Amino acid sequence: MEIKKGIGVSPGVVISTAIVLDAEDLLIPKRNVEPELAENEVKRFHEALAVSIAELKKLRDDTTSKHGKEIGGIFDFHLGILHDKSILSQIDKEIRTKHATAEYAVAQVCRKYANTFAQMTDKYLSERVKDIYDIERRILHTLIGQKREDLLHLQRNVVVIAHDLLPSQTAALDKVHVRGFATDVGGRTSHTAIVARAMGIPAVVGLGNLTSEVSGGDTVIIDGTNGVVIVNPDVDQLEEYREFERRNVAAEIQLSTLRDLPGETTDGHHVLLQANIEFPGEIDDAVARGAQGIGLYRTEFLYLSSDHEPTEEEHYVAYVEALRRLNGKPLVIRTLDLGADKYTQAQMASPERNPFLGDRSIRMCLHDIPMFKKQLRAILRASLLGDVRIMFPMICTLMELRQARMVLRDVEEELEDEGVEYRSDIPIGMMVEVPSAALMANQFAKEVNFFSIGTNDLIQYTLAVDRTNEKVAGLFCPAHPAVLALIRDVIRAGSRNNISVSVCGEMAGDPLYTLLLLGLGLNTFSMNGPDIPEVKKIIRSTTMEHARQVARRVMSFDSERQVMHFLREETRKIIPEAF
Ligand code: PEP
Ligand code: MG
Repeated sequence: MEIKKGIGVSPGVVISTAIVLDAEDLLIPKRNVEPELAENEVKRFHEALAVSIAELKKLRDDTTSKHGKEIGGIFDFHLGILHDKSILSQIDKEIRTKHATAEYAVAQVCRKYANTFAQMTDKYLSERVKDIYDIERRILHTLIGQKREDLLHLQRNVVVIAHDLLPSQTAALDKVHVRGFATDVGGRTSHTAIVARAMGIPAVVGLGNLTSEVSGGDTVIIDGTNGVVIVNPDVDQLEEYREFERRNVAAEIQLSTLRDLPGETTDGHHVLLQANIEFPGEIDDAVARGAQGIGLYRTEFLYLSSDHEPTEEEHYVAYVEALRRLNGKPLVIRTLDLGADKYTQAQMASPERNPFLGDRSIRMCLHDIPMFKKQLRAILRASLLGDVRIMFPMICTLMELRQARMVLRDVEEELEDEGVEYRSDIPIGMMVEVPSAALMANQFAKEVNFFSIGTNDLIQYTLAVDRTNEKVAGLFCPAHPAVLALIRDVIRAGSRNNISVSVCGEMAGDPLYTLLLLGLGLNTFSMNGPDIPEVKKIIRSTTMEHARQVARRVMSFDSERQVMHFLREETRKIIPEAF
């Protein structure tokens, strides 16, 4: 049994069987063969070993002739491991005595060796861990060939354990059978974490070396509420967590009674509660949890879940489906926010040094006008079918906003020339998610119909904290007075200029900040569907006057600790079971 502490990014508890996903999507399930087939597995292993040795020798010789003996010699370490009698006999033994498949035996023994190397104080030796993984991967590739487990079509419920999950990998997960995930790296607002919350499954990130300590087939508890992962729990822990699971289900059933009630304070002040989605298929669940529309549709996931740039028709089909599911409720379509941690195949091939500060989001769209126009054409064509709104992400300068609007105007003219109808009064909004836009909110407010504050990026760029880096996750804090001052000023600028303001970052769905945002005058909250009931409960349990008092007090503090302490106390007064 091993207890690991990480960052809980999606609440709830799950107890299930692990599948371990390495960087190349190799899944090595714990499987046994009939005893009489064990020798056959030993033979498969030795054949794969011979292929790997031949490959490595060729690689060594080619590298030596191109780059010299010193560089080519790197592969001698790999070859040495593949000839190490002790390692080879352990793999044979694993197969013969436990009747493991060749794949599972290789994965087990290599991980054990990688762990031993990782603990060595000699830096040279501890760095050999990567070589062991390389060797493991090489043999597994030969063994598995094309027979890869398909993450999209799993046969049973599992939890996914990975070093990291790219947003595109997360998007491709089998939504029915993947019941939770845990990763070595990542932060609270990394897109992987956001998708986990949208799926309503527990997730913990930033667990260090979890992947080297879990094998496929292990029983794992993922406690996303407390940021804990337990590998192969004992009987007492299993019972404790089963009880916790039962309580969670009961609490959810209780909250679901709020579904059809309005987001209204006890003194009659209304706010709009909307959901964030990555795929149209999430809409039904969000509406079932009480969403009054979609405040953020992250359309880049259309791109990330496909192996090609979506065509205009593919965009169009997705938007039509979303509008059909919404049945008249508003849909805020955010234009492609690619880049940073949501990179395209082309970006993956030539990574930027600082991708969060690089060719991201609206910048990328303005650099690739044909791609941008394709999406805008599809949105305009779909606009006749429902309440569509367009939102531009990561606007930093007025010029960018104006350029984006000019491209939109061009697309409108093209459609007019072609005789294609569209709605000419589509509301146009922008995300306020970089400090420059927040500081100039008053000017921006004169050029758009609505703002949506993206706190995930606003916090990252204001506090200089990479939102995906677990090493600085403790510094990523919505309660920082500088962040709160920016949010307050954006809401004020919106109300002064008579445009609506929402928050669509993760802060909107965190019950700790509900009273504060309400008191600051926020009129729309957009969050992951599963977060809606709890936020609604808080809104329905307070008065606007009280929320304003809370906000005034919070804005007088000069440290995030004071802010969080005070908000926790105030929220507990309303909902004692909170936090
Ligand atoms: C944000 O930055 O807060 C936001 C909602 O956008 P995303 O998380 O997709 O970057
Ligand atoms: Mg953002």
